[in-house]
Amino acid sequence: MSIERLRNYVNGKWVESSSQSTGDVVNPALGEKIAEVPFSTPGETRRAVETARDAFPAWRETPPLERARYLFRFKDLLEESFDEIAKTVTLENGKVLHESRGSVRRGIEVVEMATGIPSLMQGSCLEDVARGIDCEAIRQPLGVFASIAPFNFPAMVPLWFLPTAIACGNTFVAKPSDRNPLSQQKIFELLDRIDLPAGVVNLVNGGRETVETILDDPDVKGVSFVGSSSVAKAIYDRAAKSGKRVQSLGGAKNFITVMPDADMEKSVAAITESCYGCAGERCLAGSVLLLVGDAYEKFRDPFLRAAESLRLGNGLDEGTTLGPVVTRAHLDKVLGFIERGIEEGANLVLDGRSPRVDDYPNGFFLGASVFDDVDPSMAVASEEIFGPVVCLIRVNDLEHALSIATANPYANATSIFTSSGRAAREYRYRADASMIGVNIGVAAPMACFPFGGSKGSFFGDLKATGRQSIDFYTDQKVVISRWY
Ligand code: NAD
Repeated sequence: MSIERLRNYVNGKWVESSSQSTGDVVNPALGEKIAEVPFSTPGETRRAVETARDAFPAWRETPPLERARYLFRFKDLLEESFDEIAKTVTLENGKVLHESRGSVRRGIEVVEMATGIPSLMQGSCLEDVARGIDCEAIRQPLGVFASIAPFNFPAMVPLWFLPTAIACGNTFVAKPSDRNPLSQQKIFELLDRIDLPAGVVNLVNGGRETVETILDDPDVKGVSFVGSSSVAKAIYDRAAKSGKRVQSLGGAKNFITVMPDADMEKSVAAITESCYGCAGERCLAGSVLLLVGDAYEKFRDPFLRAAESLRLGNGLDEGTTLGPVVTRAHLDKVLGFIERGIEEGANLVLDGRSPRVDDYPNGFFLGASVFDDVDPSMAVASEEIFGPVVCLIRVNDLEHALSIATANPYANATSIFTSSGRAAREYRYRADASMIGVNIGVAAPMACFPFGGSKGSFFGDLKATGRQSIDFYTDQKVVISRWY
């Protein structure tokens, strides 16, 4: 089988990168290379930015209603190709097909939101701010924006940004993950079919050098990054230094508190999905379970049974409920965490390290794993693992749970399971993560709400999606008028 070498999409055309430096895209269930991705040269990256810069003046003048019509066409094509894109996500990322479908649906919802741009982008006006003087605030696009995306939601995450950015009248350069850029190729094939003016949207494959070229380019006005926290912080610093707008979404360590009064059956189901869905490679995945008082006895065994019953396999196969992790290197990293947990004295009560997955001997599989008797100071309880490994900690009360959760430097998402409105309110009030679930295991904001964490999980101020994204992609100009 010939291996496809991926191309860039620049100025309305598919172009080969001349780069000799390449990476492999590997199907995680089979452990087989399925495509080759070029690490584009700085010159190629610069060309994409210049193209977007040159396309900006005419695109900005295109009425918002017309810009929205392109997005309606894009949405129709995404629906037509829905299954193909979802399948591609499973092939390149490993997640189970229904999880891929869910992620593509979430991406389409951002396109739907962005079609409302004629309303969303409106400004405001107040007559008589002083006698005979009126004041209006208008929103204007800024120029070229770029996105830099992670491996875990290869179709969805870039769609958090591009639709809204171009709906606002900006032009765009997307840099997909270098580990799994295939679904973005498919999505750009659809963008190619909606006949946008050349240069409005561009795709550049690459890694660190490509990213740094984007960050240093004075023609790029703003950058949206999603990935690990150390890179997110570096991106924030470097982009801010060159005067850009930045929203930089980082890693996570998500705590889930279970109160003794929670509905245990429903909580076990929701928390199992939170921790092991997408093989734990979700920035919203539950990672440390804080079991309050006798919630520990009520919850522990049913949860272990639920985790043990997950069926490892190829995400394309019917009946699979836990797919592989993304790469061999990532599997080794997660296994390293399990070793550290054991060395630190945690009790590995469910060990997924020797999985039996018939028919897929070379896949990057790891069974659901659970540590008990965990101390919050251990690496497994404090650092991001990003795999199907969960820690159980018995805590005395809500206060104790909150003290552990808020001591962690990450603050992406957290959830509480309870039947007490008072406990839920207290949790919402005091937890410092900014995506909070109450009897919800994956607190993923819909497209019309802001997506992003706080503390070490987010660098910037305006978050992805929702009205904040309109603020991010526009400048607000105020005009004060007096007519004699
Ligand atoms: P990553 O940081 O390794 O890579 C993200 C992107 O940055 C990729 O496009 C990569 O090519 C590029 N990159 C990598 N190293 C770089 C460097 N040194 N300089 C410049 N660019 C660089 O992240 P990943 O492993 O692809 O994704 C997983 C991480 O993303 C996890 O930490 C996860 O929590 C996080 N994530 C966060 C959110 C959120 O909403 N906060 C959502 C999804 C994923």
